[in-house]
Amino acid sequence: MKTQVKALVVGGGAVGAGIAYHLAKAGWECVLIERDELTSGSTWHAAGLLPLFNMGYATSHIHQYSVDFYKTLEAETGLNAGFSVVGNLRMAQTQERMDEYMLYASTADSVGIKYEFLTPDDIKARWPLIRTDDLKGALYHTEDGYINPADVTQAMAKGARQLGAEIYRKLQVDSYEWTGSEWIVRGTKMVERGGNLVAGEDRFEIRAEHVVTATGNHAQRTARQLGIKIPAIPVEHQFIVMESDPALVEWRKTNPEHPVIRDADAQSYVREERGGWILGVYEKNAPARFEYGVPDSFRADLFPLDLERIESQYMAMIHRIPSCETSGLKDDFNGPICYTPDGNPLVGPAPGLRNMWLAEGFSFGITAAGGTGYYLAQMMVNGEAEIDMASLDPKRFGDWMTTEYAMRKNEECYDHVYILHHPDEERPAARPLRTSPAYDRQAARGAQFGQVNGWERPNYYAPMGFNDHDARSFRRGGWWQYAVEEAKAIRNGVGLIDATAFTKHIVKGPGATAFLDWFTTNKLPKVGRINLTYALTPTGTTRTEYTIVRLKDDEYYLVSAGAWTAYDADYLRKCVADKEAAFGRIEVQNVTTQWGVFAIAGPKSRDVLKKLIRDADPETALSNKRFPWLSARQIELGMCPVNAIRVAYTGELGWELHHPIEMQNYLFDQLEKAGADFGMKLVGARAQNWLRQEKSYRAFGTELGRDATPLEADLPRFVDLSKDFQGKAAMEATGIRAKCVTLLIDGPADCDPWGREALFDGNTKIGRLTSGGYSVHFGKSIGMGYVRPDLATVGQKLKVKMLNQLWDAEVVEDSPYDPANATIRIDG
Ligand SMILES: Cc1cc2nc3c(=O)[nH]c(=O)nc-3n(C[C@H](O)[C@H](O)[C@H](O)COP(=O)(O)OP(=O)(O)OC[C@H]3O[C@@H](n4cnc5c(N)ncnc54)[C@H](O)[C@@H]3O)c2cc1C
Repeated sequence: MKTQVKALVVGGGAVGAGIAYHLAKAGWECVLIERDELTSGSTWHAAGLLPLFNMGYATSHIHQYSVDFYKTLEAETGLNAGFSVVGNLRMAQTQERMDEYMLYASTADSVGIKYEFLTPDDIKARWPLIRTDDLKGALYHTEDGYINPADVTQAMAKGARQLGAEIYRKLQVDSYEWTGSEWIVRGTKMVERGGNLVAGEDRFEIRAEHVVTATGNHAQRTARQLGIKIPAIPVEHQFIVMESDPALVEWRKTNPEHPVIRDADAQSYVREERGGWILGVYEKNAPARFEYGVPDSFRADLFPLDLERIESQYMAMIHRIPSCETSGLKDDFNGPICYTPDGNPLVGPAPGLRNMWLAEGFSFGITAAGGTGYYLAQMMVNGEAEIDMASLDPKRFGDWMTTEYAMRKNEECYDHVYILHHPDEERPAARPLRTSPAYDRQAARGAQFGQVNGWERPNYYAPMGFNDHDARSFRRGGWWQYAVEEAKAIRNGVGLIDATAFTKHIVKGPGATAFLDWFTTNKLPKVGRINLTYALTPTGTTRTEYTIVRLKDDEYYLVSAGAWTAYDADYLRKCVADKEAAFGRIEVQNVTTQWGVFAIAGPKSRDVLKKLIRDADPETALSNKRFPWLSARQIELGMCPVNAIRVAYTGELGWELHHPIEMQNYLFDQLEKAGADFGMKLVGARAQNWLRQEKSYRAFGTELGRDATPLEADLPRFVDLSKDFQGKAAMEATGIRAKCVTLLIDGPADCDPWGREALFDGNTKIGRLTSGGYSVHFGKSIGMGYVRPDLATVGQKLKVKMLNQLWDAEVVEDSPYDPANATIRIDG
């Protein structure tokens, strides 16, 4: 047995096997250890479906890779994993569901996933056992299907061994210790005793430069061993196997197997199994399990079937495939399926730890195993994956997250698998939780909140009694008109936005200036000034966008996106720790929850603030001379001390008012009172998102991420090539693979793009939108995205795929609204 290895993978389910295979393929020496037998976790009882359908961009890539990769495994390993490429038929009972499929289809185009749309008549003609009279249509994937989960895991394990990896069973990891250069992983040799798996007398120790945990339902124990939080907690999931259906047996004599049949509106999937059917459901009230760890007594076990819980889905199956009504129940499975609060797995560097990688929380782990192995190995071996893995990063949940939160959100995620995945969806469980002080005031004025990193943030304001849930749509939702009014208020008058969720750090000390100069791409601002800048990954792509305010010579206030607090903090702290010896002492404080932020914007914003500012000369305190654009000053608004920053993400005259959180309600009341004279409107995040696109302001998580450099994002003005900074050489070597552009779109009358749509030149796919919305200034749809560099020229005509049709779009100049920034700079 090896005791020293480059990479150690802990967990021998589908996911661990996929990772070991791809690490070995990438040339890394690799060992996988498993406490029991390979596939003895959730993998053994999975139904083995491999659905390509997924609304996320990164996850779609992962699933597509797996489906392609599994088809190659038999030739490589000689093991047949039982991949039945029968396809997947996702049916729609409503037009809304068809709208969902049409939005998905555009994402699929941008990833390169093949699909077809079928009418009810098409379905009936091909599969007459399916009842179609109440269907609107279906989305049909021909290239996926189902696989034997244990066999595909064994095939990946064999492939890994062929490539040099070693796999040891019956070894349970008990502890991890980081020496500063490697992990010492200690554990127990497990033994069989009376049918149970118990800890034996013998211990083991393996030293590894890198460790990946893929421990499935045991993630809570792994979290305790590592001293971190991992919000992966399983939920019960059931499927039943039916006796044979004579009509199916008869039909199959002359016909090929049915595709996997998904009746999304009935929360179920059905597939053939030896002349009968398997019914799998995502029902309501499935409980979370093992929130404090898997009991030793639970091995390859199952929970008792709860038929009552799935009765309505069972009846829906009989409705959809009437011939199965007389088939009896043959077998049942109710097993733990791991979830996370947003349904995506946790893949990437563990928070606060070095060379420790997580691959936990998989609810579609059979589908995701191959692709996860592929992209995680890229991250580990090359530094980054070719796609942005941020949506799966373990640090997207912060330290505020608790066991109960994870349980409730995971249960919600399970029960939401088949809901309509509206892009404007806001999920209700575990809310409100993180609220800024003004929450109650905003709610009383009609705020409809969204949740960002747990924070409640107004999306828009509507009349009291308005129901956000019923206003959601794949087209323009019922909220659209309110966002239009809010956007107009900022362009023509004044609006107030709550931006308290922003991530805020203080970086100070003798080494702070040299560190930030190396850490970020732009020149550092002078004291009292601010700069927009980027921290890059070592491979030259964008890791974080910062607004940096220089408070003193060696003290800086860094503002970054609200959704990414732990993600940004982790990288900043790790880079500081790496560089402190070279640059001198650097102190980092995360002050996110100490400072509230209101952004006031619009041509009348100065007039509102003038009424409140306490200054020897209030008339000139906010003038261009005393408070120029892109500068910061400490001001007093009534009795509230405010660190004011003259920037506006909306592209109008405006200030961000960073204030002590405990004075937020006082400041809110003052602003509201002063604003009343100027018709000030409370404005939510949706209008802000539209307005920033009129200014071509890139957003982190959409235009900005780990799959593009700031030069590809077309932001050379924030990159100072005369200095040296982290990732510079890699960024320059990358060149321009695709370029960020802004587009005005002549789309459908009732629909704007969401930022997931594929872009075409004629019929050739040449890029994708990363943001989308409505421009109140131009009176039409707007979007931002990446296109082939030769097409990134002003005036270039392109097409956007929306509602399954191509619509005209034109590349416009950067900042199509007020390109000279005249309104932002206006004096007064
Ligand atoms: C009823 C049901 C049906 C499902 N159907 C599908 C489906 O159709 N398609 C799909 O894609 N997914 C499906 N799933 C989900 C799928 O089963 C999981 O997502 C997948 O198996 C997760 O794989 P994994 O490798 O992450 O975890 P696991 O398979 O649970 O593997 C984790 C392994 O880690 C080992 N381990 C844990 N701790 C330690 C330690 N300290 N030391 C050593 N080893 C350790 C465990 O023993 C275990 O073998 C289904 C799940 C259920 C419950």
